[in-house]
Amino acid sequence: MRLKLPVNDNPQHKFHKKEIAAELKNAFNSVSSFIEKHTSIVCPDCKNVCCIDKHGRYDDSDLVILRVLGIEKNHNDQSDHEETSPCRFLRKDGCSRQRWERPFRCTHFFCNPLLKSLENDRAKSYRIFIEQLQYLVEIRRKLLDIHL
Ligand code: SF4
Ligand code: SF4
Repeated sequence: MRLKLPVNDNPQHKFHKKEIAAELKNAFNSVSSFIEKHTSIVCPDCKNVCCIDKHGRYDDSDLVILRVLGIEKNHNDQSDHEETSPCRFLRKDGCSRQRWERPFRCTHFFCNPLLKSLENDRAKSYRIFIEQLQYLVEIRRKLLDIHL
């Protein structure tokens, strides 16, 4: 089943939307390497991997963002995937989606071991990461505010 997307076609929004969309991709990229540095430390030993199909499904906000970013196909068909089976986007070498294409929870969820690992990095690196993450959340919120 496809989720119904909210629509706002006000042309005044188009310029800002484009700028913010580009900024959003940059913001996702800016947090990615720090997160991946730490998932590569903690995830190989994980006994309860979070990349199950339920977590790879887009919510309404994700679908709005994807549409603004120009991805019409949302891959949200749940008919042939059990919620607890491995995520449809998971491959041998990890997630097949670029970070900005994934459901937002995939970037914004930190299990305890991952959180601990992030916090144990250099204080400056962790502080910069937190600032970048806050900025990402803010940019995404702005894009949703414009579009909803
Ligand atoms: S992020 Fe946490 S829960 Fe998910 S696979 Fe890595 S260690 Fe496991
Ligand atoms: S979309 Fe990627 S990061 Fe998210 S649950 Fe699926 S495989 Fe994991």
